Amino acid sequence: NRTVNAGRIGGDGDLDNSLRPRSLGEFIGQPRVCEQLDLVLQAARGRGGTPDHILLSGPPGLGKTSLAMIIAGEMGAALRVTSGPALERAGDLAAMLSNLVEGDVLFIDEIHRIARPAEEMLYLAMEDFRVDVVVGKGPGATSIPLDVAPFTLVGATTRSGALTGPLRDRFGFTAHMEFYDTGELERVLTRSAGILGITMQPDAGAEIASRSRGTPRIANRLLRRVRDYAEVRADGIVTLPIARAALSVYDVDELGFDRLDRAVLAALVRGFGGGPVGVSTLAVAVGEEPATVEEVCEPFLVRAGMIARTPRGRVATAAAWHHLGLTPPAGALN
Ligand code: ADP
Repeated sequence: NRTVNAGRIGGDGDLDNSLRPRSLGEFIGQPRVCEQLDLVLQAARGRGGTPDHILLSGPPGLGKTSLAMIIAGEMGAALRVTSGPALERAGDLAAMLSNLVEGDVLFIDEIHRIARPAEEMLYLAMEDFRVDVVVGKGPGATSIPLDVAPFTLVGATTRSGALTGPLRDRFGFTAHMEFYDTGELERVLTRSAGILGITMQPDAGAEIASRSRGTPRIANRLLRRVRDYAEVRADGIVTLPIARAALSVYDVDELGFDRLDRAVLAALVRGFGGGPVGVSTLAVAVGEEPATVEEVCEPFLVRAGMIARTPRGRVATAAAWHHLGLTPPAGALN
């Protein structure tokens, strides 16, 4: 189940915690983000203050939650966790904010899904460390100002474009997380194999890395599935042939596309002649939520050079036609 917030609670999500990097030094990849963040945090520590509010943006599974935990850790602060969809009413947020202690890091995952009234309360809290709580209804309603302890908001979003301007403007630093390259994912896998006590040969690590959709969470998930296969069908050692055999059982192809990626590509090419077609139409065609197609599938298919975004909609590139074993029409994008 690959919904936008998949893997957060329970199941593999819990295991994820043992694999999370604990410090910036342990965090693999994203060198620019790490350098920028390190400066922000060191400067704040030097001044003895709280760092500016930080926005982390990028597709799921790239390490936003891990970075939020690292930020709190590096500041010696407590991390409070909530999410946009959980903050339906302004009162939910007011309760959260009024419990903060000076220096706390408040992590709001999927911050683009926060409800309007809570968002407006958040503006004031971010800017002035104050909230106005409205008590009562109608003409008798009064607004009670409350102080909030100075805190750092860390927001995570898979769609920074969906954030309103005023909210985006209140972050002092935005980190754009990129997909990981294969070498970085190999390092993630080697580290995870060490933590989980898995014997993995280097060429097997490289193979799993190249099929992980540029995403550490997926790399770790595939590693566990390959381990299952190695334990059940062999002697537990993850070799290249074992990795290949396991990945084919789990329907991960050579480019790392999974079932949904392939369904989207096939719909675009076979169903819509290569486009252009809108993302919600594509989502209906494959029976998925538009948000999942737009925030999970599409970014990777774009990065893999299979889909191009045009003002008129999504278009399949020549590579997409070839990937499906078809001849691209004359004039297909390269
Ligand atoms: P997001 O919040 O962006 O969806 P997470 O922070 O939950 O992503 O990361 C998912 C998992 O991927 C983590 O539990 C961790 O095991 C792994 N991971 C993410 N980034 C890294 C990294 N830079 N180095 C090592 N492992 C990572």
